[in-house]
Amino acid sequence: MEQHLLEDIPWQIDLAQLARQLHLTENQDALQELEQLVAQAQAIGRPKAFYALARVEAYLEQGVVVNGIELRSRVLRVNLEHVHRVFPFVATCGNELEDWSQSVSNRLLHRFWADQIKESALRSAITYMRDHLVSHYQPGQIAQMNPGSLADWPLGQQKPLFRILGTAPQRIGVRLTERMLMIPTKSVSGIIFPTETTFENCQLCPLEPCPSRRAVYDPTLYSRRYQSPVHAPSAPDEKT
Ligand code: SF4
Repeated sequence: MEQHLLEDIPWQIDLAQLARQLHLTENQDALQELEQLVAQAQAIGRPKAFYALARVEAYLEQGVVVNGIELRSRVLRVNLEHVHRVFPFVATCGNELEDWSQSVSNRLLHRFWADQIKESALRSAITYMRDHLVSHYQPGQIAQMNPGSLADWPLGQQKPLFRILGTAPQRIGVRLTERMLMIPTKSVSGIIFPTETTFENCQLCPLEPCPSRRAVYDPTLYSRRYQSPVHAPSAPDEKT
């Protein structure tokens, strides 16, 4: 697999925006405390990401085979119907920030702010990785799926995904717990793929309210797009 380890990811927190998001703009004392935490985090934070180029080797009824490993998800299978190359990935806020967040004061509020700061680092890692991938491979429009986002691709599927990723998660300090959760907690893993149809996990997820929702829930999408029979693609097309 062609691999890309991204360790020097630029990361800058917009303090004013974070303060607005946390409703702290009118509270000078809290603002000062937040500013101190942000300065500490910026000094040590090193968000990281890894992605690889992989080929879909087989198309099953309820999943696909990537690098000899089966990923079981009907939605993933249908989303990859016309796709041959995919990009397994893992991105993280990094162990430096994870350790730092354990050491900030015991005040619940500070812990919550530290979480938001780690979230911002993770978002930077994901954006940087996606931009890197797009400029390197020019795949056109892309979408991503993550184990655990949908009942169709449950958290247990982290295991085969991590087998595809090999030692990469370790190299950027990410590990799986027995319950298939990632440490650092602000980490994301999944598969990025080229697509001609806009896809977001949220379109198939009824959870409300969700502050991270990126698309409106479409209650009939599954039956319209994912229940009808699909056929294995024929000749590989290098663009997809
Ligand atoms: S709505 Fe929220 S929980 Fe559901 S897939 Fe989107 S981000 Fe995840």
